[in-house]
Amino acid sequence: MMMLMNEIIVYVALVLTGLALGSFAGASVWRLRARQLESDKKHGDDYDPKEYKRLKKLLGKKVRSDRSRCLECGYELKWYDLIPLVSWISLGGKCRSCKHPIGKFEPLIELGVAAFFVLSYMFWPSGLTSGYEIAHFVLWLAAGVVMAMLFAYDAKWYLLPDRLVVALAVIGLAIAVLVGLNSGTVVTTLLSAVGAVGVLAGLYAVLYGASRGRWVGFGDVKLGVGLGLLLISWELAFVALFLANFIGCLIVIPLMLAKKLKRTSRIPFGPLLIMGTILAWFVGTPLLAWYMSGLGLY
Ligand SMILES: [Zn+2]
Repeated sequence: MMMLMNEIIVYVALVLTGLALGSFAGASVWRLRARQLESDKKHGDDYDPKEYKRLKKLLGKKVRSDRSRCLECGYELKWYDLIPLVSWISLGGKCRSCKHPIGKFEPLIELGVAAFFVLSYMFWPSGLTSGYEIAHFVLWLAAGVVMAMLFAYDAKWYLLPDRLVVALAVIGLAIAVLVGLNSGTVVTTLLSAVGAVGVLAGLYAVLYGASRGRWVGFGDVKLGVGLGLLLISWELAFVALFLANFIGCLIVIPLMLAKKLKRTSRIPFGPLLIMGTILAWFVGTPLLAWYMSGLGLY
């Protein structure tokens, strides 16, 4: 009974923190986009003036505060407009002030992060008792928040902002060091992590070089560094790569058949790589064992 109560408390805590951090992630993505447009404008790069005018509101004095604004009318959201999911549902997905639809972006990212938190707990592949292990879990959740922002940004604007890619790599490095310290084999673990980075970033680096940036962007290469560090093992990195391409085919082939996608359409690789990595972390080890036993190698 006590055990069950504890489990319920853990799940409720994971859902609530996931929703709250998902809400933070959603607001951060818009702010990052506004900054990106501002910097493009400053550097004379291509940018959409209409989009800039809309998002400029987010770059006021309060950039650093947690407050967000309505992109249409500039209405400053109050605390009761910022309750994850609840506010969106109670407002019917519309701004309280101007009734303009807010879009499904915010609730989706909130739900996504909450689901990631819960699934991470359910499918956590190693122990969760020692301080090291719990620290690893918490860092992984933090990485999940960054991955959610990268996922959303890349899916929407075909770009992986440097700030986020670097943040992910730093968290990944911390995890690799932590896992190494815990197992008492820092050097071996770091070498293994370097192998994983080689697999995930290496292939995309080759594709980037071969296509001169037409097939994949350099952002995908940099993303591979952070994702490789998160996985630590090069075998799991291969699984992640395989799953990313597999999911990609599942999405792309039906779209192509329905003629919704042209051969020249751009596909953001970031979200696929992120999904592949998360799945590889959850089920990669049993998947590999199953595959190897099928080949008669075990
Ligand atoms: Zn409004």
